[in-house]
Amino acid sequence: MNRSSDPLRAWIDIDLGALVRNGERLARHAAAPLLPMVKADAYGLGVGPVVRALKSLPLQGFGVATASEGMEVRALGVTRPVLVFTPVLPLDFAALRDANLTPCLGDPAAIGAWTAAGGGAWHLAIDTGMQRAGIRWDRVADVADAVRAHPPEGAFTHFHSAESDDGSLECQEQRFREALAALPALPPQLHAENSGAIARRSPSAWSFVRPGVFLYGVGSGAGAAIHPEPVAHVRARIVDLHDVHVGESVSYGASWTAAVPSRIATVAAGYADGYRRSLGNAGTALLHGRRVRVAGTVTMDMTMFDVTGVPCGTGDIVTLMGRDADQLVTAEDVGAACGLSPYEVLTGLRQRLPRVAA
Ligand SMILES: *Cc1c(COP(=O)(O)O)cnc(C)c1O
Repeated sequence: MNRSSDPLRAWIDIDLGALVRNGERLARHAAAPLLPMVKADAYGLGVGPVVRALKSLPLQGFGVATASEGMEVRALGVTRPVLVFTPVLPLDFAALRDANLTPCLGDPAAIGAWTAAGGGAWHLAIDTGMQRAGIRWDRVADVADAVRAHPPEGAFTHFHSAESDDGSLECQEQRFREALAALPALPPQLHAENSGAIARRSPSAWSFVRPGVFLYGVGSGAGAAIHPEPVAHVRARIVDLHDVHVGESVSYGASWTAAVPSRIATVAAGYADGYRRSLGNAGTALLHGRRVRVAGTVTMDMTMFDVTGVPCGTGDIVTLMGRDADQLVTAEDVGAACGLSPYEVLTGLRQRLPRVAA
């Protein structure tokens, strides 16, 4: 990495080209339009640039978690459907209606309240084993009256283990089909697949697909037929360099000690940026295309790396996650080093790191 004219000390490069190519891969594989999940600020990458970049793809709409996230997507000029997937409460109804957002409902009382309040389109959430949100697949008779009185625009389910090839996906899909057959009428839009499910089946059996993490560069395990390009590249500059003598320690708690004369680079990012403290003595980063290890405890604002034998100077860029030359540290790699899922790694990147979309 050479960005010598860039004044930033630490930042995230967001590769919007890679994001769009990941979306194209998904749409081609599923042979269906996408409803990209852009909840949680597009998994931490920045909802504005992500939504604008994805507009070129075959889209059904966007998916968010909350009414306020939906309002943010509307403020970006999106006119397609925006589905709110976390169950909404009556206190959300006014915001939903004002921004023309589509709630996902499964509770008979909630369906009644939304439709009685003059609510518009809604989707029926059918729980086929996740036990998180929606009407149980074997209890859809409970919502039959509400569905008959105010037919939903769509119905969907959500897979709990789509990336694990354990047969649960087929079981949940069978339950989904049973639930649909028990409805008074089939809603026009049916959807089920998240990233892991899309990557395992082609074409989609449903109206559109709901990818999240794959768009943002995280793959779907060994059984996946398609693989994403990395999108988020976390960079930080070297701000200090130390020659450490044999027997001397580095950072809080003195958990790393030099066994040989060592060169230690201090990088301007720490756990307050989302580079987790548990990456101490465990994280791997890239410097001039070579792998370097975290030395000692990650601190709030700075992290030290053992750069012994790697020629470097202050101002040089260390890639904490992402690509540098022909080397790659994935969100899965970072997560594996500190006991987190790649979802948590992405959504845990803090606002102090500017998102630099290109
Ligand atoms: C978050 C979410 C998705 C996307 O899941 P990924 O595993 O990130 O692809 C799809 N559907 C629902 C209901 C979700 O909450």
